[in-house]
Amino acid sequence: MSIAYLSLGSNMGDRGANLRFALKSLYERDGIQPLRGSAIYETSAWGPVKQDNFLNACIELETSLPPDELLTVCQEIELAAGRTREVRWGPRTLDIDILLYDDISVATPRLTIPHPRMKDRMFVLVPLMELEETVPVLGSLADLLESLPPQGLIVRTDEQWQD
Ligand code: AMP
Repeated sequence: MSIAYLSLGSNMGDRGANLRFALKSLYERDGIQPLRGSAIYETSAWGPVKQDNFLNACIELETSLPPDELLTVCQEIELAAGRTREVRWGPRTLDIDILLYDDISVATPRLTIPHPRMKDRMFVLVPLMELEETVPVLGSLADLLESLPPQGLIVRTDEQWQD
């Protein structure tokens, strides 16, 4: 069994329901056992496209799937949530990224682990810090966070994982 961390995000439709759908869908998959979830945060959209705020959270899971199969499952769940990919970096119903998978590094055309942009993104680091203080390859999450410039809004919500 391996331990993986995912980042979940949504900024279209019922954002909380989209994150709950992701968690429920992960539970229903063979070979995946969600263990812990962070609180759900409201965050400013990042990047060049002006768009609505996101809800973001991180999940820890245990899995018997290798990383590429875990990515396939994440992409199937994104599609099932109605995600389309019209604009790169644009609004999305559901985004699921693999942040970490045990202490391995992956660099294939389809998959990079640790996720290449996680160290720059407060909306990933802040929820992840609820689950871990340090992570493989990247080290202390608090140190990483301290090195980042301000990135707008990032607040804990009282949005729950259960309906
Ligand atoms: P995005 O539109 O941000 O969800 O990016 C999706 C693309 O990133 C897909 O084509 C994936 O193959 C690729 N990708 C590379 N590394 C990762 C990762 N660690 N987690 C999720 N997607 C990844």
